[in-house]
Amino acid sequence: MLEIPESRTIADQLNKTVKGKKISRVIAGFSPHGFAFFLGNPGDYSEMLEGKTLGNAAALSGMVEIEAGKMRILFGDGVNLRYYESGSKLPEKHQFFMEFFDGSAVVCTIQMYGGISVFQEGKNENPYYLTAREKTNPLTDAFDESYFLSLFDDVKPSFSAKAFLATEQRIPGLGNGVLQDILFNAGIHPKTKISALSEKDRKRLFKALKKTLKSMTDKGGRNTERDLFGKTGGYKTILSSKTLKDPCPVCGTMIVRQAFLGGNVYFCPICQPLKQRCLDE
Ligand SMILES: [Zn+2]
Repeated sequence: MLEIPESRTIADQLNKTVKGKKISRVIAGFSPHGFAFFLGNPGDYSEMLEGKTLGNAAALSGMVEIEAGKMRILFGDGVNLRYYESGSKLPEKHQFFMEFFDGSAVVCTIQMYGGISVFQEGKNENPYYLTAREKTNPLTDAFDESYFLSLFDDVKPSFSAKAFLATEQRIPGLGNGVLQDILFNAGIHPKTKISALSEKDRKRLFKALKKTLKSMTDKGGRNTERDLFGKTGGYKTILSSKTLKDPCPVCGTMIVRQAFLGGNVYFCPICQPLKQRCLDE
């Protein structure tokens, strides 16, 4: 799944690789997929895009949006985007194929589920898309400590740290992937209730969130995900399925994996103790 660091990496790579290229051919929905979602009729996409020149690509939370004249192409967080140079062997199965006049191509596949949308600028009312556009991105300076602390105002005290960070589109693009290392770096157990987090804990969580996401982005995404060229990211995840068998890098305790709120959480029981109540205040 693309989250904030990976969508930014892929948008940057698209800008260096395909920006300014003219689209010669588009095929959408070629290989049947039960969980591929298209806005409108994918059969119309070729007419909407062919002959257009690609403009800027931008990351919107975990999504990537590319300008193509007055059209926009939006790839959801479950879409794999790959670039192929002219003459490369292309994959036979795909959900979205876009070729350029120089023979190069961007080919997209969907693993679990994912959305691909082509629409005229301003004509996409999808609530996830609109929220991702409106909300402050954690990689920007506008996402500062006071903004982060204000996010706690509208959350039930019984919410867990995981639910606070990764549900209800509070911070779009922050999902169950990047969440693990943010909480590890903050020393906060994923199940700790918001009511048990002191002001100090919240500020530490803010610092960990900013620092972790920046590091992941600077290194081209996490090593559990792939970029536009099919390479895994340079950020070594501390807590993920890749490191489950490794001891905690700080204290050497075995990492614990538990199913919690639709997905696994990973944590070190020593470095991330489960606080039952707020002790610092
Ligand atoms: Zn530890």
